[in-house]
Amino acid sequence: MADPAETTIKVVCRFRPLNSSEVTRGDKYIPKFTGTDCVQIAGKPYYFDHVFQSNTTQVEFYNAVAQKIVRDVLGGYNGTIFAYGQTSSGKTHTMEGKLHDPDMMGIIPRIVEDIFNYIYSMDENLEFHIKVSYFEIYLDKIKDLLDVSKVNLSVHEDKNKVPYVKGCTERFVSSPEEVMDTIDDGKNNRHVAVTNMNEHSSRSHSIFLINIKQENTQTEQKMTGKLYLVDLAGSEKVGKTGAEGTVLDEAKMINKSLSSLGNVISALAEGSSYVPYRDSKMTRILQDSLGGNCRTTMVICCSPSSFNDAETRSTLLFGQRAKTIKNTVILNVELTAEQWKSKWEKEKEKNKTLKTTVTWLENELNRWRSGEPVPVEEQFDKEKAKAEVQALDSALNNDRTAPQPALGSTPGVKLTDAEKHKLEAEITKLYKELDDKDEEINQQSQLTENLKQQMLDQEELLGSSRRDHDTLQTELNRLLSENEASKEEVKEVLQALEELAVNYDQKSQEVEDKAKEFEALSEELNQKSSSLTSIDSELQKLKEMTNHQRKRVTEMMSSLLKDLAEIGIAVGSNDIKQQDSSGVMDEEFTVARLYLSKMKSEVKTMVKRSKHLESSQAESSLKLDQSERELTACQLRVSQHEAKIKSLTESLQNVEQKKRHLEENVDSLHEEIVRIKAQEKVNTMEKENEIQSANEVKDAVEKQIQSHREAHQRQISSLRDDLDSKDKLVTELQDSNQQIMLEQDRLRLEHEKLKTADQEKSRQLQELTVLQDRREQARQDLKGLEETVARELQTLHNLRRLFAQDLSTRVKKKSQDLDDSEGSAAQKQKISFLESNLERLTKVHKQLVRDNADLRCEIPKLEKRLRATAERVKALEAALKEAKENAARDRQRYQQDVERIKDAAKPKNMGRRGSAQIAKPIRPGQLPGASPLIHRSILLQNNQAGGRGGNDSS
Ligand code: ADP
Ligand code: MG
Repeated sequence: MADPAETTIKVVCRFRPLNSSEVTRGDKYIPKFTGTDCVQIAGKPYYFDHVFQSNTTQVEFYNAVAQKIVRDVLGGYNGTIFAYGQTSSGKTHTMEGKLHDPDMMGIIPRIVEDIFNYIYSMDENLEFHIKVSYFEIYLDKIKDLLDVSKVNLSVHEDKNKVPYVKGCTERFVSSPEEVMDTIDDGKNNRHVAVTNMNEHSSRSHSIFLINIKQENTQTEQKMTGKLYLVDLAGSEKVGKTGAEGTVLDEAKMINKSLSSLGNVISALAEGSSYVPYRDSKMTRILQDSLGGNCRTTMVICCSPSSFNDAETRSTLLFGQRAKTIKNTVILNVELTAEQWKSKWEKEKEKNKTLKTTVTWLENELNRWRSGEPVPVEEQFDKEKAKAEVQALDSALNNDRTAPQPALGSTPGVKLTDAEKHKLEAEITKLYKELDDKDEEINQQSQLTENLKQQMLDQEELLGSSRRDHDTLQTELNRLLSENEASKEEVKEVLQALEELAVNYDQKSQEVEDKAKEFEALSEELNQKSSSLTSIDSELQKLKEMTNHQRKRVTEMMSSLLKDLAEIGIAVGSNDIKQQDSSGVMDEEFTVARLYLSKMKSEVKTMVKRSKHLESSQAESSLKLDQSERELTACQLRVSQHEAKIKSLTESLQNVEQKKRHLEENVDSLHEEIVRIKAQEKVNTMEKENEIQSANEVKDAVEKQIQSHREAHQRQISSLRDDLDSKDKLVTELQDSNQQIMLEQDRLRLEHEKLKTADQEKSRQLQELTVLQDRREQARQDLKGLEETVARELQTLHNLRRLFAQDLSTRVKKKSQDLDDSEGSAAQKQKISFLESNLERLTKVHKQLVRDNADLRCEIPKLEKRLRATAERVKALEAALKEAKENAARDRQRYQQDVERIKDAAKPKNMGRRGSAQIAKPIRPGQLPGASPLIHRSILLQNNQAGGRGGNDSS
């Protein structure tokens, strides 16, 4: 247990290097370092506990200045480290540095690290509770950096009269990481609250407080240590940094806390009885650090630049003044009962001595005042007083009932004493009241802050709603114009649709006409083919007839020949009957001639017929050509129609899509209009009558919305009806289109069929022509034959004549013998020639019949192919239909989806409107370890234990 010990404040000085802008400006490096404790500026030396040159690293500085303080704080002492200096002299660099850079980190992170490391190496019976606070003082208002809602905290005194910031957030921490997180949080909050952080940080003090409580679980000894780490505001006068925008009051306030710090330090340095701690919150909080129970280190940060010459000097002077301040440090130990008792005894003793002394001195003073000379032996003597106290003690011990000796006490003195007590009590009361008022101010300012925040929010809301209103108004206008344009467009589209419908009607009419034409053509074709068949049959008949005739000719010839042979025989065998037979021959000849003439006439008729056939064939081929041409024209037209139909359906689809789009647009526009109107109404109502109750407005709005909704629904339903009718129309059109397509397909098929038939016909025609040619040839042959026959007949006639002459001569000569076997041989030759001709003809005929049969065989194959094609067409059609249905279903689904999304989006939009952004306050208990209920214990090794006397603040 240590007695109170007096120490002076430790003051060190640190110079930063010239910064780049100073170097480029060509500033001179003014400090000259002589030894580790002296720096000279312009020849004038300034002495400190330590002077650090510009090249001092962070770790060097820490080891030399701050490391010891960890041990002190964990040993139960209070500690404070100030950083004082003008802006950008390196205060923040010294205190914080780069918080997460192991080389560049300043004192705070190193201390935090060291505290925990030290704790880890301490006695296992020790239990530590560490809590941290972080606040800043700006314009003499304490703002909690760990809870942005606490903007004007008040300072109170604990039972030991040690000031503390009442109500500031204290976070329990159990690791260096948690401490660093807390610092990060605080810094973030600080950044969020201000616009110009550099300016703000140069005008505000930031204070980081580490509070360490330890308890020895065995001895129940409790100790506390508080460590204040203070980054002061820039020491320059605010005017110099160019605070043009700052109002005078603010400038005064900014300077106030630093000047009161200066005053406090001056007062302490001069040893004056009154120290104006209460002048500013900062000095009040740090009361203990300045001339109180604290090991205080002040870091004087200086710029080495010649530009900052004056400021550097004043800073150094301040530091020198602060160096004279004496603090009385006590171990902050909570005493055990035994310790308290002995302490009480001691104090009582002391009290007694002091009381005697006071009374004595007062008496003496009164005598002096009343002009009475006091002899030397009666003047105050320490030894005598002590002896007197002892005597008094013994007397007290001997006789407790004896009356208290009044040592020359006068009524005036008594009065003063009582007055003094009263006054002291009064002062304490007043201070208490002051603190209470402070607290009240704090609460009020918190309330104001909240209200201000609310007002700002409201203003923002108002502004945003006004802006919204404006934008909505413009939007509304735009939408209205757009709506107008859309209506126009819809009109146009409808017109176009009508036109399309008319066009479509025309086209369908045309198609119908074409179909009719086609039918007519096909009928004609049928007629033609029937005529062709009739011609064919005629041809067949003719052929048959020719055959028949030929047969008859051969028959005739054969009978003729037979007759001739008979005549020959008769002539050869019977000469007597010659006269008779010549008569018979004559008769036979006439018969033959008759036959021949008949044959001739028949041949002629045949020729005629064949000519007629030829002409009819030519005609039919002509007609065929014509019909073919017509067919191609028809085909062309059909394909044109097809293309047109396609384009029409496409345009129809386009139009439908457009229509849909427009409808959707119109829907959304209506919705928008309704919403906007409602908004407008709300706004106007708000504006007009703010006092009017919200219910009325709500009702009105609801009514409005209801009416709009109804109108909207009506509109929607009418639109839906329209849509339905349009859909119906579209389906009808599609159906008719399909029908036409089908018709077209059918026509095409028919056309194809006809074409093949036509080809067949032309081929047949060709064949027929070939046949005709052959027939011609046959006729020629027949003619030749005729001629030959005629010649033969002539020869026969000649022969007959010769024969008659011969016969007559034979009759005359009787012996004359005629050789007629030669003639019959020649005839036989001719007959064989004819027969071969006939044979050839029959061969040709057979060939033709075979060809015909082959073609007949071909027909079913072609028919089969045709059927396959038709089936394929049908399958394709079915597929098309299915695809269309699928598309329709997809579209419907898509529409439903769109509707659903729209519905879902609507409330979302509404929800967005309602939520104003409110910053979430950070309160103790929200963060792990921040709850005061959770006591994190760190049980560790400690060699030094115990202590005596002290206090436990907050
Ligand atoms: P202050 O907090 O006093 O306004 P800062 O600590 O922000 O000043 O320092 C201003 C600038 O100077 C910073 O960029 C800092 O990195 C730099 N600086 C300050 N002291 C030193 C030093 N000892 N060594 C290197 N750079 C320093
Ligand atoms: Mg700073």
